[in-house]
Amino acid sequence: MRKFTEPRLVLASHNAGKLEEIERLLQPFGVDIVSVAALGLPEPAETADTFIGNARIKAHAAARASGMPALADDSGIEVEALGGAPGVYTADWAETPQGRDFDMAMRRTWDAVEATGAGHPRRARFCCTLVLAWPDGQDIVFQGFVQGRLVWPPRGTQGHGYDPMFQPDGHSITFGEMDRWEKNQISHRANAFGQLVAGCFT
Ligand code: IMP
Repeated sequence: MRKFTEPRLVLASHNAGKLEEIERLLQPFGVDIVSVAALGLPEPAETADTFIGNARIKAHAAARASGMPALADDSGIEVEALGGAPGVYTADWAETPQGRDFDMAMRRTWDAVEATGAGHPRRARFCCTLVLAWPDGQDIVFQGFVQGRLVWPPRGTQGHGYDPMFQPDGHSITFGEMDRWEKNQISHRANAFGQLVAGCFT
């Protein structure tokens, strides 16, 4: 597998929280991380219908425009009874004219499952896809998952997004009830980053 040997990495995200999280993760490897926002690069339209497709669009656009290797991520929740929805449209299900509303998105997800008449437990998984792309066009893809079930009503005030309605396997509390440290031990994102570090940074 191709190793990351360059001094700088572009993060193909305009999200300051992600930048901070990834900086902390890659700090031991002496990598200088710069975001596409800091470089003044635009966000490309995420027109693919898979996590990998969208992460590739973002990573290759950033690598081409900057001339440096770039890392992109795309994530979401897949519900078994909904055939994998909302999946790549996870953030879209939360959109309102006033911005994102995840209480509404969780309600919408639960209602959609109810409408199918699916039995319990209602299986779901979070997915995190990472793509590391180089300016020469090569890329490497990593996918991390965490399996669990949906619960209703949502529980907990920690975390973000769909965390309060997701109870990971082997636990009796939701991601919304877990502290950040505990979630980071088992999350889809931790799993994908573990693979990235093992594959390209060590
Ligand atoms: P994006 O990849 O930044 O576009 O995010 C996709 C969507 O998935 C976000 O809107 C989040 O709400 C949701 N999502 C991704 N990871 C998590 C998680 O760890 N907990 C809760 N929601 C998540």
